[in-house]
Amino acid sequence: MLNQSLEFPKADILVIDDTPENLNLLSAMLTEQGYKVRSVTKGSTGLRGANAVLPDLILLDVNMPEMNGYEVCENLKANDRTREIPVIFISALGDVLDKVKAFAVGGVDYITKPFQLEEVLARIENHLTIRQLQQQLQAQNQQLQQEIQDRTKAEEKFAKVFRSSPNPIAIATIAEARFIDVNPSFLKMSGYSLEEVIGHTVTVLNLGKDTVSIAQTIQLISDTGSLYNQEFEFSTKSGESKTILLSIELIDLGGVQCALLIANDITERKRLENEFISLVSHELRTPLTSTMGALDLLGSGQLGTLTEQGQKVLSIATINTERLIRLINDILDLERMKSAQIFMQKVKCNAADLLIMATETMQAMADKLQVKLIVHPLSVELWADPDRLLQTLTNLISNAIKFSQPGDTIWVSATLTEHKSIKLGENEDSSTQDNLLPSFLLISIRDQGRGIPEDKLQIIFERFQQVDASDSRNKGGTGLGLAICRNIVQQHNGKIWVKSNLNQGSTFYVLLPLAAL
Ligand code: ADP
Repeated sequence: MLNQSLEFPKADILVIDDTPENLNLLSAMLTEQGYKVRSVTKGSTGLRGANAVLPDLILLDVNMPEMNGYEVCENLKANDRTREIPVIFISALGDVLDKVKAFAVGGVDYITKPFQLEEVLARIENHLTIRQLQQQLQAQNQQLQQEIQDRTKAEEKFAKVFRSSPNPIAIATIAEARFIDVNPSFLKMSGYSLEEVIGHTVTVLNLGKDTVSIAQTIQLISDTGSLYNQEFEFSTKSGESKTILLSIELIDLGGVQCALLIANDITERKRLENEFISLVSHELRTPLTSTMGALDLLGSGQLGTLTEQGQKVLSIATINTERLIRLINDILDLERMKSAQIFMQKVKCNAADLLIMATETMQAMADKLQVKLIVHPLSVELWADPDRLLQTLTNLISNAIKFSQPGDTIWVSATLTEHKSIKLGENEDSSTQDNLLPSFLLISIRDQGRGIPEDKLQIIFERFQQVDASDSRNKGGTGLGLAICRNIVQQHNGKIWVKSNLNQGSTFYVLLPLAAL
């Protein structure tokens, strides 16, 4: 104990004793051991000294004129500032030490003369250690109190937002997509009562045609990261269909991984938007097609030869008209896909064939922009619409080429991922729950291009969203490609996302379920 205690940093000790020999003896002994010692001969001086600069420990003589040791100790304990300083009483040879009183007034120990060096040091060090541990405990306690306070405040804030938010909010477990809490707005939108929702899984509740997709998205959230404003169809209790934008965050509730789902009901906005877009698109398509025909006719020379300047103007008009037609076709494509007028023609197809075909299709564009394409295909069976998947892959590769520099490389690869098999039904056999089988194909398209800023990583999958407003003009895009890709991937019960580093490149990931054996 002695040796161990000596390792503590040496402390400041105040000795109060009216006998100069005692003072000198103790002072010399403690100083030699490396302690800082202050010594005074009067109780009142000792009190002042202790109050001015707090010592770590006080050695206090019992018998002193004017104010005896018990009184000094009482005074120390009555003062908030000095209360916690450990006091060890010293009693001279022949003095009567009232031990009970010494402890009653707040002393922690006593030493009787003649002093045994080892014993005095051991006692001092013991009490310094105890004091130090006490201080540590107090500090930890304070910190804990502060943390509890902060947490309570944060929880109160969250509870307030949760209850009063106009947005429907729900909390569900990741493992089973089982609802554990929903707010009043959620109940209002869905038409269900609290009892009908809490404790049930998304699948059992049956939220309409996107139920499986919503359940899978929740269950994959710890792998794919948070989700921002993804569009889903949602069916209310009465069967009314609503369009929602769903954002999902991963949260930890007492050690259980949960998903915080925040919905935005955009049914009405969507209806108006769709009406407007399809009206405008249809109205534009016919005149544009006829304009294109007229431009072709002019270009063919059947109406007379154009000057070189005329040819230039004609080619600009043709490029722009083609872009407009592409835009309108994309809009109509997306609309039809969303309103499920386009059905995925799913067949068993080989992923390697699709990857090779997609890269071959884009090879000419890559050559033109001097970008190298490297493909690592993987031969596994998918249950998919090959044309639509090809459309997705070519779009992603085309973007990767567009946003690369000459000399850059693009890698298209595929791997199998071992995924926790997804439990969708309440009645499913629980032994399948932790089955680690490679049940998904993960396709990645990695480029060394300009990258995408962090705040745009999610919204570029929304329609008409581009990192730079000039992208559509300069790179010839429509801002609809990724929205279409996302729609196709979702209709395959898959997931698409991107990771990126500015100026270093981006990797787009497409996760697709494998065909059942
Ligand atoms: P676009 O027709 O404009 O390419 P997309 O929906 O395919 O439309 O892409 C949306 C936007 O996302 C692009 O305009 C671009 O700003 C950004 N983007 C897509 N892919 C990449 C990429 N590989 N590197 C950098 N930015 C990209």
